[in-house]
Amino acid sequence: MVDVAIFAADLVLPVCASPIRDGAVLVENGRVAAVGPLAEVQRERPDAEVRRFPRCAITPGAINAHAHLGFRREDKPPGGPFSDWLRELISKLPEKETWTPKAAANSAREALEAGTTYMAESSPYGECLPQLAGSGMAGTVFAEFFPGDFPGSSPEERVTAIFEKARKLREGLPPRVDCQVSVHSPYTVDPESAASAARRAREEGSVLAIHLQESPEEVEFVRGGTGGLAGIFGANTWGGRGVSPVRFFEEAGVLAPNVVAAHLATAVSEQDIETLARAGVAAAHCPRSNAYLNCGVAPVPEMMQRGVRVGMGTDGLWSGPSMNIFEETLFAVELHGFDGRTGLELATVGGAQALRIDGETGSLEAGKWADLAMVEATPSGGHPEMEVLKSAAGGGVAATVVGGNLVYDRLDT
Ligand SMILES: [Zn+2]
Repeated sequence: MVDVAIFAADLVLPVCASPIRDGAVLVENGRVAAVGPLAEVQRERPDAEVRRFPRCAITPGAINAHAHLGFRREDKPPGGPFSDWLRELISKLPEKETWTPKAAANSAREALEAGTTYMAESSPYGECLPQLAGSGMAGTVFAEFFPGDFPGSSPEERVTAIFEKARKLREGLPPRVDCQVSVHSPYTVDPESAASAARRAREEGSVLAIHLQESPEEVEFVRGGTGGLAGIFGANTWGGRGVSPVRFFEEAGVLAPNVVAAHLATAVSEQDIETLARAGVAAAHCPRSNAYLNCGVAPVPEMMQRGVRVGMGTDGLWSGPSMNIFEETLFAVELHGFDGRTGLELATVGGAQALRIDGETGSLEAGKWADLAMVEATPSGGHPEMEVLKSAAGGGVAATVVGGNLVYDRLDT
């Protein structure tokens, strides 16, 4: 690791502060020490090596608040309905084992080359942890567990097993890579196990990743106990609660400020938004996956208005077209009519807030990790964020810096 370095570009977008022309980021021991005009930063540390990125803008690295690494583009199943897609996925699980590690490494590389510096990945029993740990990105793998894999055990026993598994997986990990637990969804995890896992995550002070109110079929299962998902998971008989999945998980005691709920795309009502806001739940917005699987549109502007923390997620390559968070965000910007500044916030600090790591990353501020994306763009107007976002969405990331390390450099500076 370079102990002291200055990263300089035509423009720096700290996200937490105004754009800086001819700006620079001073990095010491992996963390941001100062951000400002290059001339000023250089006066502060005249001895520091300057790494210049001409015709580029420096932004905080992208934060992927909900991803799956273990899928590959070439045999992506057809799109929605959701339950048809899921049935196809389940039928391919046996053969998928043979290619998941390679797919995960490729997905992680794609994310890194698109400027992602932190990823929240969910995979069965944490199977993609080696690939995230080896990618150069920081991040957390959320180990999903499926109660159907633990016949004859009590909810407490199976929850103990998955937390013990996550604890073992944490041993020997590189710095800034972690493993925690995910309650996959209201239709795959029974409410007793979900509640027990949520309680345990709160006690440990860890983040809990969940899928929530993603599809019409999930809503139908939880409300009526019927529909496509009831057909797939015949043994999962706890549906038919007469309420929305958000309400169901609230009543089960799952929802709390440590929960990041992905999707929230189908029939999310005013009352659901109120519940999420009151519980302090964060949302991971995956609009391209939701569109592909006919799941609807998450009411993100309304959630943000109510103070729900929102980050962006790509989901995996079997539902989303790429692992590029900036591209996912540009889709959301066009979908909801956001401005470029809001978009750049969602792609970076929004994800950090959702994952409760905004004290450590997500914007360019002294004390945070130096997680940066170098984006080819030279906007001249007063609102450069949209231009930079569009460039990053379209493959314009030239380099990625994680904790002060240049882990990807297309320009080879
Ligand atoms: Zn997902």
